[in-house]
Amino acid sequence: MSQLALSGRALLPDGALQDATIVVEQGSITRVTPGLDSKADLVVSGTIAPGFIELQINGAYGADFSNDGRTVANVAARLPETGVTAFLATIITSPWDTYAPRLSQVREAMHAMMHSASGARPLGVHLEGPYLHPAKRGAHNQAFLRVPNVDEILRWADASLTRVVTLAPELPGALDAIRALSGKGIVVSAGHSNATYAKAMAGFKAGITWGTHLYNAMSGLGHREPGLPGALMSSSVPCGLIADGIHVHPAMVKLAFKAKGAQGITLITDALAAMGMAPGRYKLGDREVIVNETSARLADGTLAGSILTADQAVRNMMSFTDCTLAEALAMASITPARVLSLDRQGRIAPGCDADLVVLDESMQVERTIVAGKSVYERKA
Ligand code: ZN
Repeated sequence: MSQLALSGRALLPDGALQDATIVVEQGSITRVTPGLDSKADLVVSGTIAPGFIELQINGAYGADFSNDGRTVANVAARLPETGVTAFLATIITSPWDTYAPRLSQVREAMHAMMHSASGARPLGVHLEGPYLHPAKRGAHNQAFLRVPNVDEILRWADASLTRVVTLAPELPGALDAIRALSGKGIVVSAGHSNATYAKAMAGFKAGITWGTHLYNAMSGLGHREPGLPGALMSSSVPCGLIADGIHVHPAMVKLAFKAKGAQGITLITDALAAMGMAPGRYKLGDREVIVNETSARLADGTLAGSILTADQAVRNMMSFTDCTLAEALAMASITPARVLSLDRQGRIAPGCDADLVVLDESMQVERTIVAGKSVYERKA
């Protein structure tokens, strides 16, 4: 079967960037040896990293997952342009009766793609809502918010499709919901929450293992009441961060990195249908979003997703903080893989899927490989 050898500076599982030669056979990495091999099929002058793993993306290239789950296939085909090799389709708070049909659309699209790997891998769904705090709903529609209910949750909770649920841990019934979801193997993330520090820590103790877009749509960071951001920044619970320079001031991105390090931050885009498209009006669930060259907002000015790309988030992280390239790449690959407990992705190591991104010297995506196949090559 087909074999491919890549040689160049590579991000290894321990977070170090080192010269290495990576041998890929039948879609998997079979060997990683130290040092360069000038006779490899692909000798890379920039950097080889595990493909980026995007835990929060609402859609892109004109498609919105909350409105049409089938579009994961179209988006998956194009995400490798941004270095992404695996992603969770985020569905925002929606009318209750639309969840079942939307989830089955995503499941069917994922199933159809299993036999034709030609883009990024959809890993499942990130349900953002409906158990969110009304005061921190952001762009989510208040009319569709719900109070956590374990019986209701156990009717749909299935970790083979739903990998992450974002909820507000301070809501009545939330702690039982966290235990029920995490007991099913679903990652529970604290977000769209007005939690005090104490309520947030109680949520962590109940089984929360991630935080949804640090700082955004959550209680404030105060020196007497640290809120959810203080709980996330002072604990070992990793959190997503939207490093577009608009959702979070670069100084607060720097503070988050100082507090959490590369192992505590997952770079997310929270991108919506407008990503990769011209400015204009787009849908995010039932909301109309007005998009200009830099941001996406509701008519009242509330931020509603982003038009950030994963590769730009990596470059921004380096310019906003004093992190190294290795750390920035880890926040887009190794750390999100750990949040989802993925054992075959997010690492350049024997036995892992050959999902790789090749970046040039200016950290632009040159080539993206999924299951050992080039699914994106930048035109010369
Ligand atoms: Zn959100």
